[in-house]
Amino acid sequence: MAGTVESTIKFPYKRSLGPVLGAFMTALTEQRIMGIRSGGRVIVPPLEWDPDTGVELAHDFVDVGPAGTVESWTWVAKPTAQHPLDHPFAFALVKLDGADTALMHAVDAGSIDAMSTGMRVAPRWKAERKGHITDLDAFVPGETPETHEGGGAEEPVTMMDYDATITYRIPTTANQLRSDQASEQGRFLGLKCPICNRTYTGGRGYCPIDAIELGEEHEVDLPQKGVITNYTIITPTPYPGQTATEPFSRVHVWLDGTDVVLGYQTLLDVPNDDVHIGMRVEAVWASEGEKVDKDPRMEGNLIGFLPTGEPDNTDPDLVNRLH
Ligand SMILES: [Zn+2]
Repeated sequence: MAGTVESTIKFPYKRSLGPVLGAFMTALTEQRIMGIRSGGRVIVPPLEWDPDTGVELAHDFVDVGPAGTVESWTWVAKPTAQHPLDHPFAFALVKLDGADTALMHAVDAGSIDAMSTGMRVAPRWKAERKGHITDLDAFVPGETPETHEGGGAEEPVTMMDYDATITYRIPTTANQLRSDQASEQGRFLGLKCPICNRTYTGGRGYCPIDAIELGEEHEVDLPQKGVITNYTIITPTPYPGQTATEPFSRVHVWLDGTDVVLGYQTLLDVPNDDVHIGMRVEAVWASEGEKVDKDPRMEGNLIGFLPTGEPDNTDPDLVNRLH
């Protein structure tokens, strides 16, 4: 049976806010919304530059609101994890009292029927504020802000952390599921093309040479031994989620008698200086259900490859076998 696999990519980053947005975010921690004067206008959120002329603005800040008027809005009926609220709400352009431009933010009105252009809203603040636009939890109908005891940030807010994330689902084919099951059992599942006799790793499901579908009837168990055709020594750079601290190798393993080269595999118990092309290796699997300390990026129960101790393969063309 085919299904889907859900994946999430998260990209954390940090940005410096500068003197204007920094001041705006600092004001948010104090439950204040701040704009900047530009000629006769007040711009909210504040900009560093006059949007009409590009001239740098003096840091002439002014508090606005706290209440304002909805200028336009759109209803979000099914919020995702990335939306500011976990129940239906409106994104709205809110022109705060004293401002000449509108701030886009969430309005938590309860239902779409409670929303209207021209309605009056006031901010609902979060109890814990850190200098982020979401310190302002949402606007709510009415004139009265919902505030909390306590002051703002002890230091001016200068940086902002943000996690950009995307979650997506991809369909898995029956071939991929059987390949994954084989991997759980400590087997490499391949597919052998009946026309060209090439073998492919299990999940692919077609021969790209002959353009035919490959299915269960073409499955073969691939050998557990192979030869290193290429390798990379990776020096880990620190980023969120990186657990490695020392340089480590990743090797390409050509499984014996097949057309399958498994890329970027873990090589076990070999110092980086000893890794070389032509080294004979064998797969090491965790037994079914066994909890092992293995690289979570590796598929199934494959822990990695260990040298077999057999003599090297000295074919000079090995290095060209990358896939
Ligand atoms: Zn073929």
